[in-house]
Amino acid sequence: MGLEDYVKPGNHIFAERGVYDHHSIYVGKAKVTDPSSGKTRKLKYPVIHFGGNNSNIKGKASDAPCRKCFNKHGDPGVTLTCFHCFQKGNMFSTYRYDVSFITFNTTKNGTCTTASCDEPDVVIKRAYAFLHNQNFGDYSFFFNNCEHFATACKTGKARCNQAAMGFGVAGAIVCKTARRLRW
Ligand SMILES: [Zn+2]
Repeated sequence: MGLEDYVKPGNHIFAERGVYDHHSIYVGKAKVTDPSSGKTRKLKYPVIHFGGNNSNIKGKASDAPCRKCFNKHGDPGVTLTCFHCFQKGNMFSTYRYDVSFITFNTTKNGTCTTASCDEPDVVIKRAYAFLHNQNFGDYSFFFNNCEHFATACKTGKARCNQAAMGFGVAGAIVCKTARRLRW
C-alpha cells in the first residue's frame, strides 16, 4: 500500500507535532527545482503548508536542506515540501469537512469542521496561488496559523474550527485556549 491509498489530492491532512498539530494540503503532483543545479524534477507526495519561525513547525533553520524537496526548514511562509518534511515521522490524519454538529462537538478540536469544502482541483489551485504569491500574510499562532491556511484552501475562507460556529476571532481564542488547557 502506498500513501495514495490514504490521501487523495486536495485532502487537508494534519500531523501530530507534540503540543499541537501541523496542517497541510496534499497536492498530488509537483515539480521542484534543485537550487544547486537549476534542474527541475518531479516531487513525489508533495504537500503545501504554512508556518512561521517556529521550530515545532518548521524544524531547525540549521538543518540541512531536504534532499527530496530542497526545503530549508527555517523558511517561514507558504512552502511546498515532500510528505516526509511535513509529517516528520508522526501520525497523520485527514481533516474532515461537512461533519454534523454532534460529531463536531464530540471530536477533538482542530480535526474537523461543519463547513463544506470545494472540489479538489479548486483546493489545489488555491494552495498553489498562495504558494506562488506568498500572500497568506504573516504567521500568527492565534489568528493566522497552519489550520487557517488549510481551511482557507479547502473552503475559500480561513477558519479556526470554532469560527465555523460564528465566534469569529473570539472563537479562535477560545479554541486555542481550550486546547492549551489540555496540554
Ligand atoms: Zn523534504
